[in-house]
Amino acid sequence: MPWETIRKRPDDKATAVLTDYDQARAAFTWSGARADLDGLPDGGLNIAYEAADRHVAHGRGDRIALRWLAKDGTSRKFRYCDLAEHSSRFASLLRSLGIGKGERVFSLLGRQPDLYVAALGTLKSGCVFSPLFSAFGPEPIRTRLSLGDGRVLVTSEALYRRKIEPWRHELPGLKHVLLVDGGAGPDDGVLDLRRALPAASPDFACAKTAPDDMALLHFTSGTTGRPKGAVHVHEAVVAHHVTARCALDLRPGDVFWCTADPGWVTGTSYGIIAPLTIGATLLVDEAEFDAERWYGILQRERVTIWYTAPTAIRMLLKVGADVARRYDLSSVRFMASVGEPLNPEAVVWAQETFGRPFHDNWWQTETGGIMIANYASADVKPGSMGRPIPGVEAAIVERTADGRVHPVEEPMTAGELALQPGWPSMFRGYLGEEERYRRCFADGWYLSGDLAMRDTDGYFWFVGRADDVIKSAGHLIGPFEVESALMEHPAVAEAGVIGIPDPIAGEVVKAFVALKPGWTPSEALRKELLGHGRAQLGPAVAPKAIDFRASLPRTRSGKIMRRLLKARELGLPEGDLSTLERDER
Ligand code: ATP
Ligand code: MG
Repeated sequence: MPWETIRKRPDDKATAVLTDYDQARAAFTWSGARADLDGLPDGGLNIAYEAADRHVAHGRGDRIALRWLAKDGTSRKFRYCDLAEHSSRFASLLRSLGIGKGERVFSLLGRQPDLYVAALGTLKSGCVFSPLFSAFGPEPIRTRLSLGDGRVLVTSEALYRRKIEPWRHELPGLKHVLLVDGGAGPDDGVLDLRRALPAASPDFACAKTAPDDMALLHFTSGTTGRPKGAVHVHEAVVAHHVTARCALDLRPGDVFWCTADPGWVTGTSYGIIAPLTIGATLLVDEAEFDAERWYGILQRERVTIWYTAPTAIRMLLKVGADVARRYDLSSVRFMASVGEPLNPEAVVWAQETFGRPFHDNWWQTETGGIMIANYASADVKPGSMGRPIPGVEAAIVERTADGRVHPVEEPMTAGELALQPGWPSMFRGYLGEEERYRRCFADGWYLSGDLAMRDTDGYFWFVGRADDVIKSAGHLIGPFEVESALMEHPAVAEAGVIGIPDPIAGEVVKAFVALKPGWTPSEALRKELLGHGRAQLGPAVAPKAIDFRASLPRTRSGKIMRRLLKARELGLPEGDLSTLERDER
């Protein structure tokens, strides 16, 4: 690999929760990890209890659980005892509305305090929580509520009037809409949460949920096609707790900032549950990305652990290191990234700019929590996703026509990334899609649909999604490698790479490139980038064509939608676009 490993200094090791990777893996058991949580009597387990009430029971109720920064510059604080109380009121309210165990409560909210109360209250009541992205249009909201059989929806008045009221009568199963900012009209089943919550009882005995009871319903990002509804159970909290400690280096008292939108799995697993089970302070910023605002927050709020996504990091890179250097970011101890491949360029840029790298980690909606990570205590290989967490066996495999799955032993050979089922946050089904769920498993493996390689040190390297991989003149080309090579050119802010049909090679590589500020598209630059690609990658792998774009189409969770670039290039149907963020053809 062209990038040098970032060696950790001994003092970095001294501060990390997971100090010796091999030893931690050897000593680890999931039942041992479960014993770190309280559990409920009779072997029960409830996510909300572990996240909020447990701290109160152990005399930690006065610690700050949530610090909320509003768009307007004001802020609010919630102690663990406040979260426990408010979520109990929410659970009481659900019960008084006749909503019973296993019924689905959806949220359609931005980063509002009510969202956190609703999530914990729903889980505490034994109901199932399903967050939706607040920028969804009416149709994606309706299909998800319908598929998930939503009984209750927590949202704001504006979102309700605009996106739901017009078709509400078509979903009679949706019994109650709770508006966080009032505005309840004369219509049936619309309640003002500001009035209902204080009137509901703060005394609520946590529902006796079993570890295998359904807790969360998360829709995937829809990067490769129609989004799937992944079912998760209360036991997932064990994995959230473990990964918070070992992969994010989280400890009690940390100020943790997860920038993911609450409408996606990261926004719940790590934006709510994991840091609260640890007893950290969760920092929540209501506003959207803005480089100066973000650096200001890191500095002012003394953030210690920061979990973000490649798309945000690329935007910070675009703005430049000079801006970053104006802020004191010395409080930040650990920075991690998830959601898309993190180009080595970005890891090294962070090391140079902040004095510490971004630690890439890999997981999916289906896995419910982090599976592969670069650790605080271990050397970071820029461009690699890291190594499996304790308790998870991962391998590179190939499938044969007879349905068998064989591990690929040869290092740095591309194959499908597979995991041995058995970790607690493993999804238990795609709602209403039994066959699609079954197809994820073969020969005792869960098959992720991502292609990767493993090196001799056991680090995993992302190649591309199985659907995105390009086959050109007998070569298998992963888009990530080509995109990362293009990003090493100073003009390139981001790149999306696809394969287009070619009569001789089968497919050839085409790249779509967005430029950094100060650069303009030109024939000369196109030629230069093509030459740069050939020099970096060799003629077999380098792009044969490059188009300039103002920006690339991405999902609302920040992932480049290569399938859309391809459909448009080839004049094919565009497919499910419910999660497309913006359209900049
Ligand atoms: P859909 O399954 O609907 O197509 P999606 O796979 O994008 O959408 P998510 O579950 O949100 O939905 O994303 C998980 C996927 O994101 C992974 O399978 C992988 O392709 C990508 N991903 C996540 N983390 C990383 C990472 N660190 N490096 C590379 N890819 C990553
Ligand atoms: Mg997926």
